[in-house]
Order: sequence, then C-alpha cells, then structure tokens
Amino acid sequence: MSAAAGADTARRAPRSVIVVGAGLAGLTAAVELARQGVRVTVLEARDRVGGRTRGIEVAPGRWIDAGAAYLGDRHTELHALLAACDLKTAPTAMQGASRFALAPAGADDHAAGDADTRDGRFPPLSAVALGDLFEQLEELTAAVRPDAPWLSPDAERLDALTVADWAEQQLSHPDATLFFPLFLGEMMAADPARISVLHMAFYLRSGGGLRYLNAFEGGAQQDRVAGGAHRLCERLTRQLLDLGGVLHTDEPVLSVQQTGPEAVVRTPEGSYRAEAVVVAVPPLLADAIEFRPALPAPRAASRTERGCAVKLNLVFPEPVWRAHGLSGWSVNAAGPLLSTVDDTPPEGSPGVLTGFVTGAEAHRFAALPPEEQRAAAVAQASRLFPMLPEPIGFHVTDWVNEPWSRGCYAALFGPGDWSVLGPTLTAPHGRVHFAGTETSTEFFGLLEGAIRSARRVVADLLGE
Ligand SMILES: Cc1cc2nc3c(=O)[nH]c(=O)nc-3n(C[C@H](O)[C@H](O)[C@H](O)COP(=O)(O)OP(=O)(O)OC[C@H]3O[C@@H](n4cnc5c(N)ncnc54)[C@H](O)[C@@H]3O)c2cc1C
Repeated sequence: MSAAAGADTARRAPRSVIVVGAGLAGLTAAVELARQGVRVTVLEARDRVGGRTRGIEVAPGRWIDAGAAYLGDRHTELHALLAACDLKTAPTAMQGASRFALAPAGADDHAAGDADTRDGRFPPLSAVALGDLFEQLEELTAAVRPDAPWLSPDAERLDALTVADWAEQQLSHPDATLFFPLFLGEMMAADPARISVLHMAFYLRSGGGLRYLNAFEGGAQQDRVAGGAHRLCERLTRQLLDLGGVLHTDEPVLSVQQTGPEAVVRTPEGSYRAEAVVVAVPPLLADAIEFRPALPAPRAASRTERGCAVKLNLVFPEPVWRAHGLSGWSVNAAGPLLSTVDDTPPEGSPGVLTGFVTGAEAHRFAALPPEEQRAAAVAQASRLFPMLPEPIGFHVTDWVNEPWSRGCYAALFGPGDWSVLGPTLTAPHGRVHFAGTETSTEFFGLLEGAIRSARRVVADLLGE
C-alpha cells in the first residue's frame, strides 16, 4: 500500500469496514461503527459468536459460563454495555468456609488428599511468607509503566527473566514457593516458566492491582452476568443485524490483502472488500492470517505463549456444600482441580462446582481421554467435598487446544515479547487496525479490556 493511500485513509472515516472475529471486541467495534453509518461485515471462524465467552445450559433456562464469567465495579465499560444490552449482574456466591488441600508434592497419599477447612480465603500457610511474597509482587507492579510496559525502569531485564527464575531467586520460604504458582495459575492461567516478570507485573497493574484482581467482594470477581456472559455477544449481534450489519460465521479469515483502493479479505468461502479492516482476534491467531503487504518486522516474527486453562463444570441437583457451611471455594496443591468455586446459577439450582485446571497441569489434563478426565475430577471433588452426590452433568472446556482461541484467559507474553511486540501492538498496518483484549493496556486479558480495545479502534477509524 502506498504512503499516499495510507494518508487518505487516515483523513476520513471509512464507509465500509470488515471486522475479523465476533468476540466481545469485534462485536463492540462492529455495533459502534454500524451506528455511525459505516457498512460493517463481521467474519467469524466459529459457528457461533462470543469467542472466549460461551454458555452452557445446565437446566432449562439456566446457564453457566464455560468461558469468562466475572466482573467488578471498576469494569465500567462492561457495566455500561451490559446496561445498554438490558442484561443484569448477580453477585458471586462466596458465603461459607473455604477448603485448602495444600500438602506439598511428595507428601504421602493420605496427606495429599486431606483438606483443611478455614473461614475466609487466606490459606493455612505462613502469613509472614505470603505477606512478603505479596509485598514483592506489589513492588514490581508499582514500578511497571501501565501504558507502555516495555519502557518501564529495568524493562529489559524484567522482560528477559521468566517468573519461574524470579521465584527461584526471590522466594525462600517453602510456603511462598508452594503458593506462588497456584496463585499465578488461578489469576493468569500461567505457567511461571513461560511468562516474563514484566508481563506478570504489567498484567497485575493493568487489572487494577493484585488485591483487586484476586478479590471476590469488592474485586474483579464480585459479580457474574446473570444468564451467562455469552449473552452480551448475542445481544450485540442482534443490534448489529438490526443496524443493517452482516455477520458470516464458519468463515475463518485466511488473508488480508491491501494493494488497491480497498482491502480484500479472503476466507474459504470467498472474498470481501472494505475500506478498512479491524482484526479482533488473539495475537497467535492474528499471526496465522497472511497479510499482504506483510506485517512489519519484528511484529511479523513474534509469537506469544498460550494461557493455559481448562475449565470444568460439575453439575449436581443442589449446591449441597452450602448446607455444610462451605462456599465451594478450594485451593489445591495437586491437580487436576487447582481451584474450585461455586458457580450455581443465581436461581439457586442446579448446584454447579466449577474447577480450574491451570498452568502446566492444564496440558497434562487436556491430554487425558474424556473418561479419565471425568474420573480424576469427580474423585478430587469428592475428596474436597465429601457430601457430594454423583454429578448429573460434567462439562470440560479445553481452551488451551480450542483452535480459535489457542489458550486463555488471555495470551501470555513470554521472555522478550513485550520488547518486540509492545511498541507495535496497537499500531495500524495501513488499512488494518488491531483490537482484542490483548491490545488493551487497560484491563488486559479481561472482558473490560476487549471493550476498551474496540473503543480505541473505533475512535481511530472515525478520527475522534
Ligand atoms: C475460561 C476463561 C475464563 C475467563 N475468565 C474471565 C473473567 O472471569 N472475567 C473477564 O473479564 N475475562 C475472563 N476471561 C477472558 C475473556 O474471555 C477475554 O478477555 C475476552 O472474551 C476476549 O475478547 P476478544 O474479543 O478480545 O477475543 P475473543 O473472545 O477470543 O474473540 C476473538 C474471535 O475471533 C475469532 N477468530 C479467531 N481467528 C479468526 C480468524 N482467522 N477469522 C475469523 N475469526 C477468527 C474467534 O473464533 C473469536 O470468536 C476468561 C476467558 C476464559 C476462556
């Protein structure tokens, strides 16, 4: 594409836009553009909208989340969008005591199966050791530049260092060593060996800080979307179609060519033309699209890591743990269920216990045959909550290997990624603009980040 054509697109708003990806970022951008009179076509690889949000109907009219679920008060754009879509939130159920099975690896079988019951969410580990750990993490978080992590003081060193190496250097107390990977798995679905310290610090900062990200009441897990977070994308789709926009599902975008006056976007079904393109897919999947002209180096050569989480939902007739004074919350040193949480629909039944298999454990679990996955998860849930009956439903969502997500909760930036990718993450490539939660420095990786990324791109395109 010529420099002159680039200048032209920068001067006036495009009359037609193709949006690649019908996740929250793509659909938010699509609806806002359509509202401004732009002709919008959304191309989605899956047979459904919603991307990393997906609903499961566990009883007639009762839905739970196989993907993203939680939000907090600071997620202001998400709250505004939910209200505009006539959707409500419901508080996350967290009343009752927690269970902790934190016997370190190598403990005998009996000890490894034992779980402590505690009020609150603080684990039965050394408060001093965990206090020191959180202090160190908060120091790293405070030092990172939220708008441009690659320009933070000491960025080069922190970007080159893996979190696993950092932990080996910094953590000496066995309780801190035991707890840290569990904490990181739960919060970021990250294997400490695969992410940089700069990314960890940035993620914590971007999401509102360690305490906010980790908290239920008053934090990022305070509420859920009543009826399931997937509803948001369904409502946005309806709005888009009402505004005259077009959506094609089952159409993965293979290439984006911009050699003439318009961009040409190809899928296995055909080709589409528009004055601008918004690519709203995770970075690994954006990298799989062929761009002509090619993306500038070094961006073209960069690869991020996949977030590693498998989400399990065990369904019971009732949330029986509640009658025993338990919240359903647990944290466990051994897998597959490294944590569990009560995800019973707001109507009160059926009872749903959601388990997270994260970090390196997610890869091991994902490789098991389905019957072994079920047997391992049910056996562990029954050890944690001995009052559980046989589940009446069991759902596994393997986000690590989902071909159109390639990981979750979000892409993870490994050593060197921020230095290479950061400066160009949001830079347009001619007529092509990039959205998606991984392009938002605010609430990176979260639903809120997806919406903010869409608003940024729409403002760029409309010249606001
Ligand atoms: C298990 C899990 C738990 C989570 N928990 C939370 C939570 O509690 N709170 C929170 O705020 N966030 C959470 N998240 C993260 C949240 O889901 C994401 O931040 C958000 O949904 C990302 O939206 P997006 O539009 O940027 O990307 P996506 O939702 O990934 O959308 C991208 C879309 O692009 C499509 N696509 C990919 N490649 C192509 C192609 N070549 N052509 C066409 N289409 C393509 C995909 O199919 C997808 O629909 C969680 C995610 C998961 C999976």
